[in-house]
Amino acid sequence: MIIGPDHARGGRIDCDVVVVGSGAGGAAAAWQLSRAGKSVICLEAGGHYTEDDFSQDFGVAARQLYEDDGQRVMMGNLYVPLPGGRCLGGSTVVNSGICFRIPPTRFSEWQESNELAFEHADLLPHTHTTEQMIGVAPSRTDVWGGNNQFAMDGMTKLGWSGGPMPRNAPGCIGCGACNNGCPSGGKMSTAKTFIPKSEQYGATYYTFARADGFIRTGDRIEGVTVSLMDPATEQPAGRMEVRAKAVVLSCGAVRTPEILQRNGLGNAHVGQHLHVHAATGVIGITDRDIEGWKGIPQGFYSDEFHVNDKMLIESFWATPEVYWLSFPFGFEGTAKMMDYRRMVAVGGTISDTGEGTVKASAKMGKVKISWSLNEEDKGRLIRLQQRVCELMLAGGATELHTGIYGIPPITSMDDVRTWLVPDQIRPKQMMAVYASHPQGTCRMAGSPEVGAVDCDGRVYGTEGLYVMDASIFPDVLGVNPQVTIMSLSLMLSEKLARTL
Ligand SMILES: Cc1cc2nc3c(=O)[nH]c(=O)nc-3n(C[C@H](O)[C@H](O)[C@H](O)COP(=O)(O)OP(=O)(O)OC[C@H]3O[C@@H](n4cnc5c(N)ncnc54)[C@H](O)[C@@H]3O)c2cc1C
Repeated sequence: MIIGPDHARGGRIDCDVVVVGSGAGGAAAAWQLSRAGKSVICLEAGGHYTEDDFSQDFGVAARQLYEDDGQRVMMGNLYVPLPGGRCLGGSTVVNSGICFRIPPTRFSEWQESNELAFEHADLLPHTHTTEQMIGVAPSRTDVWGGNNQFAMDGMTKLGWSGGPMPRNAPGCIGCGACNNGCPSGGKMSTAKTFIPKSEQYGATYYTFARADGFIRTGDRIEGVTVSLMDPATEQPAGRMEVRAKAVVLSCGAVRTPEILQRNGLGNAHVGQHLHVHAATGVIGITDRDIEGWKGIPQGFYSDEFHVNDKMLIESFWATPEVYWLSFPFGFEGTAKMMDYRRMVAVGGTISDTGEGTVKASAKMGKVKISWSLNEEDKGRLIRLQQRVCELMLAGGATELHTGIYGIPPITSMDDVRTWLVPDQIRPKQMMAVYASHPQGTCRMAGSPEVGAVDCDGRVYGTEGLYVMDASIFPDVLGVNPQVTIMSLSLMLSEKLARTL
């Protein structure tokens, strides 16, 4: 059952487990726990929106579906947008549907550095369940569109590895609106999968229900206190408390440390070790019509440089205003927008090495996210752009725009060598850096000296309080994270169910 703000009553509810957050981690945990026969209440700060509500207008989508109306940023030696979902289904409703497994070598590194007490083989069955549940398969080329085909052609000429992106969108019609909420219902967010399937086992979801505090006796956490939010004013309009044998926090890697800090729970690692996949892109102009808005925005990838240089090349597509705003074209750039039909866009992500922090502000609901682009990460992002330029020139682009302020349009590999020189570029010149996968802010480790949660996801220093979301990644993952978050959450919640 999904209970919206009109029907939520204050007072007290009792259940076996209360899950806070309904995104990748929370919905997977709610399904696993309810399937095991536990009574589950899941609280979601955002609203419940479906295909009937999703809008092609990003202004509307941002307000309905995103944290801070899509304006969330990290602050450091540059400002980096860090969007995240806030709605039933969390970020899985607005994501691009890309689905990679954790590379086994990455798991081994995590296991060694953070003394994880489980094996990759323990996680794998949960990855299979996840992939089946959300329908992972290579992107269908009948809905690829010109931009993905352009990137694929460039990669093929260079002989690099890659191909159609694995995605969880079996019903994709290639309309290009993934980040506004999939209007065709073809993308299998948790709102289409784990959530309705857990409702069948009796799980109840409250929307516009923001958990603020904890009910506790000493170190034992016995439930949460909840503000019932007024959707119009986004201010608390009522109160509720949910008492449970266990509390699972799945608010994402920004909000989970925030609620812990606000309530003085957890150790010094809470809110530290923020990692992201820093991303950037190159916009090209070709001599032919591409019409990149038709087709899957992110349907192609190349992992040629993933192992040796921790970068993943991915196609992307964005609306005209995003291009126009992201690139320092001035009047000349405005004129360039006339070439939108012939534009192509390829970018990618890197695994960062710098660590940021998340800190709850004095004002309720506000957080300060700090992250800076260090020299190593800046160098890697610029090398990513060098590779992307190479691919795009091979694909037939005649002019490339890097989003780096002060660098002229690139038309050849000589230009790439002349202009894309890490030592000569300052972070603030990099106008098109973006990140969307915060992780690691309550990292998992075999001891409280190293991490914030133990290998069962339990918050060190507490009883009955668990974290199951992107916060628990021991370190940066290196590939798009939703499958790994869901897999870990299924594994940890299965274990939790056995203890209740
Ligand atoms: C634009 C975009 C594109 C992306 N594309 C991809 C992709 O293609 N592939 C991929 O693998 N990953 C992608 N991601 C990332 C991926 O979706 C997230 O990493 C993943 O969903 C995070 O899971 P989570 O459980 O940690 O948090 P989320 O899925 O973000 O869920 C957290 C939920 O908790 C709720 N919440 C927070 N605080 C409270 C509170 N106090 N009380 C109640 N509820 C609360 C939030 O409203 C939110 O709904 C993308 C993300 C974005 C934003």
